[in-house]
Amino acid sequence: MDAECLFCKIASGRTDTEFLHETDALVVFKDIHPHAPVHLLIVPKKHIRSINDVDEEDREILVDCIMTAREMARRSGIHESGYKLLFNVERGGGQVIFHLHLHLIGGWNR
Ligand code: 5GP
Ligand code: ZN
Repeated sequence: MDAECLFCKIASGRTDTEFLHETDALVVFKDIHPHAPVHLLIVPKKHIRSINDVDEEDREILVDCIMTAREMARRSGIHESGYKLLFNVERGGGQVIFHLHLHLIGGWNR
């Protein structure tokens, strides 16, 4: 938990952000500036800065994010039409929130 981190704040339920899904380990919510008809963020509750900072002990978190994204794609009705899963890594990779998150993006051709 990083007191200065927006996604720590959101993931711990200290904002009015609505969760589409929540477990002990992660939350899912809509991106505030969607790039597609479906644009969700899968966010682990543990504060990890980026993919570069994932430790061996965090492997399960990555699997959990990907499997949850797939399930959210199914629930959003874009499972079969297709979608993108994206980790932006550090500034050069387009990351602006330095708390690990997976983008689920799709819904153009449902
Ligand atoms: P990044 O570029 O770091 O991979 O993506 C961060 C994403 O978080 C952006 O797509 C941005 O629109 C989204 N975002 C930033 N602040 C908020 C917020 O307060 N609420 C929500 N729901 N999304 C946010
Ligand atoms: Zn954080």
